Amino acid sequence: MIPRELNFEGPSPILYLVATPIGNRGEMTPRAVDILKACDYIAAEDTRNSGQLMASFGIDKPFIACHEHNEEEAASKIIAFLKEGKHVCFVSDAGYPCLSDPGSRLVARCLENGIKVSVTSGPSAAINALVCSGLDSTHFHFEGFLPAKESERVARLNEINQLPETLIFYESPHRILKTLFALVGTLGDRKAVIARELTKAHEEFIRGTLSELCLLDEGTLRGEMVIIVEGASKRGGELTDNEIALALRDELEYGRKPKEAIKAVSEGTGIGKNRVYDIYLKTFKDGE
Ligand code: SAM
Repeated sequence: MIPRELNFEGPSPILYLVATPIGNRGEMTPRAVDILKACDYIAAEDTRNSGQLMASFGIDKPFIACHEHNEEEAASKIIAFLKEGKHVCFVSDAGYPCLSDPGSRLVARCLENGIKVSVTSGPSAAINALVCSGLDSTHFHFEGFLPAKESERVARLNEINQLPETLIFYESPHRILKTLFALVGTLGDRKAVIARELTKAHEEFIRGTLSELCLLDEGTLRGEMVIIVEGASKRGGELTDNEIALALRDELEYGRKPKEAIKAVSEGTGIGKNRVYDIYLKTFKDGE
């Protein structure tokens, strides 16, 4: 028999994951404030950052640091408090814990220890960006941050380049253009949207195709950003010569020799080496 217990009844302790604003503090929910005010400890990804947020809502509780480098150790401490009957909440820096933020290991450890988990709803950059993107939101794939290392990033993009769902990426401003080039190089020139500074004074949606977004001035792409990209089946057909040329340019700009770039694009796209080679000659060798 699977053991069952309603979340808000029964003796087992419960950990609250509390979603916090992604910019605009007005999006802190009254329920989140009530639950934080009623707890004994707040476990936080960054105690200084959360300290400021809590202070602005008149919440004054002892903190437990719980971040990606100490999550296991912090989980043991949190579980011990919960088993003693203390009430503990976990907040990440912004939005939902566990979404490109720490929390998943803590949740898993709590469940292993017979501790229930609940969540207060709140904003998430991924969902805000998706629903305003104008792209198909029926099915979506949340990718979050791509690996920072170029070879791993391209490998990951090649793994997901056939997914039909709308794709959601997180990115930081200093890598946004590199990532856009990598996206057009591996996924082709799909429709895409940059959702910038969501819920803040400078909120902006920049809509175009990936190659158009690659032409943006990086200096104008400040703040926090989500990239939404149309899924594979929506655009149909195989890559155009122009898209293959963009993929080649991306590989060459990362310092690959022409032969390696042609091989990488051919393997990444499934397009024959001869066609990729012809496009390389036409695009990069003509007129030399
Ligand atoms: N847990 C968060 C959530 O639920 O959305 C995500 C945290 S992740 C460490 C931070 C990334 O989320 C940023 O680099 C950016 O890609 C995205 N992000 C967070 N706040 C945002 C905002 N206000 N506008 C646009 N993107 C945002």
